Amino acid sequence: MNAETLGYPGYLTIDLGALARNYARLVAMAAPAEVSAVVKADAYGLGAARVAEALAEAGCRHFFVAHAGEAIALRPHLPDDARLVVLNGLLPGAEAAVAAAHCIPVINSFAQLARWRAQAKIEGQRLPALLQFDTGMSRLGFSPSDRIALHADIQNSPEIEILYVMSHLASADEPDSAQNQAQLDEMRKVAAEFAPLPLCFANSGGVLMGADYHGALARPGIALYGGAPHAGSANPMEPVVSLSIAVVQTHTVPAGAAVGYSGTHVTTGETRLATLAAGYADGLRRSLSSRGAVYLQGQRLPIVGRVSMDSMTVDISDLPEGALDLGSLVEVIGPHQTLEMLAEDAGTIAYEILTSLGHRYRRDYR
Ligand code: PLP
Repeated sequence: MNAETLGYPGYLTIDLGALARNYARLVAMAAPAEVSAVVKADAYGLGAARVAEALAEAGCRHFFVAHAGEAIALRPHLPDDARLVVLNGLLPGAEAAVAAAHCIPVINSFAQLARWRAQAKIEGQRLPALLQFDTGMSRLGFSPSDRIALHADIQNSPEIEILYVMSHLASADEPDSAQNQAQLDEMRKVAAEFAPLPLCFANSGGVLMGADYHGALARPGIALYGGAPHAGSANPMEPVVSLSIAVVQTHTVPAGAAVGYSGTHVTTGETRLATLAAGYADGLRRSLSSRGAVYLQGQRLPIVGRVSMDSMTVDISDLPEGALDLGSLVEVIGPHQTLEMLAEDAGTIAYEILTSLGHRYRRDYR
């Protein structure tokens, strides 16, 4: 039995044991800070419910998603004592649903704070929140220069319980970037104003940058899923994802054969080709056309011509005759090609590869 006979383009395997071990590694690195899990975008494409359940089992008690809708959908999969936080803030009209689902908004503006306070009055109870400061990314949150006014506002808001003061690092994947220290300096000013409230600061790269960046609650995503926290450095995390795709046709073409859309690749001699069952609709980006590769037992099989929506073609001339048959599986992510290698060939980052894999593969959680 193989992927194609079952009607899938291939197998996406998600190793929940490796995920739990990566969580334990991050806990050890960040100690005594606690470690949460960023499970937005369906846990970086790997399945938020399965991933969050496994991490909860491993002891994780704080989970971050981007949108209220994601949080509300995930809530039933988490223990009652787990905190589920909405990073993108509190959109007008979402207050009642967020409160009813026991989800926690990140408050990014005075207007959001006022609306959450009004909701707490309606609920007749204190409501939890995180406060976000923009320490150098110009994306979300209060300006550090708002800190004094905001602190006064918070002191006049007994209806709101601030759990953490947070910020997000823009360049933690590059530990030598001066932006890290600049953001840390801004965060220290904020922390001094809000002391003794605990901080939530480090993403994956930040966890590896040491205690200054940890705060009380670290907030990694990619490292949990086996991605490298620091670009270009040895990856201390264990791979979580492997992807194999199926052969749907093999054929031998003569010299001068055009391969794929627009004939961007033309064979220079007789060539054996295999057509594979996944394409850009399955996260194997068109930028891999004539650039990337798949592997068979360590042998590199270059992608030739354009990647199509549901298929792509590789040159198998170097393989022994009969090494690949219909339904045979080749490695796209695995021991010979890491997530980072594939991302580099595609001209993107591991995050974009993972979140684009889509739902056509057969998924095996182990
Ligand atoms: N915190 C915030 C606000 C984020 O947007 C992200 C990811 O984009 C993370 C934490 C996790 O970052 P990483 O996956 O680099 O650990």
